Amino acid sequence: MPTPKDPNPYTAMTRANEQGALEAESHASERVNAVPMKITFEFTGDCNLHCFFCDCEFGRNEFRKKGVHKFAMDETLFRSMAETAFPHVTVVNPTVIGEPLTFPYFDLMLEYAERFDVKLEIVTNGMLLKKQRLERMMPLLDRLIMSFDGGTK
Ligand code: SF4
Repeated sequence: MPTPKDPNPYTAMTRANEQGALEAESHASERVNAVPMKITFEFTGDCNLHCFFCDCEFGRNEFRKKGVHKFAMDETLFRSMAETAFPHVTVVNPTVIGEPLTFPYFDLMLEYAERFDVKLEIVTNGMLLKKQRLERMMPLLDRLIMSFDGGTK
């Protein structure tokens, strides 16, 4: 485990990947010697809310009718994907339609982000965002996007 004085060994890998991507962009090159600098995963498709106007909730309900109630990636697969991708990318967004704070391995994801020097882009409804978790997340955030919506005026 690196001490605060040690440089994070994964930072150099991330910067090398960024350099490859940005060089290709600056030369308008068709070949890019890098993986994407940002990756959006769907570590969970679940949500803590059930908004009636939500297309995603409609889809989840269709799965529930078929007996599917688990929408989060299992831990083994999560670990495997994170260990493969996180060492290279700059920013990770952990969800597309899911609420990231329902992800059962959210704290593990924060540990991975810290370990691999990845910043997180979190899009959340904010309902599960408690002070302690926010404080833990702050140094690891690229962006925190709070989504407010409602079905009435
Ligand atoms: S919070 Fe967002 S994702 Fe969750 S049910 Fe409501 S609209 Fe859908």
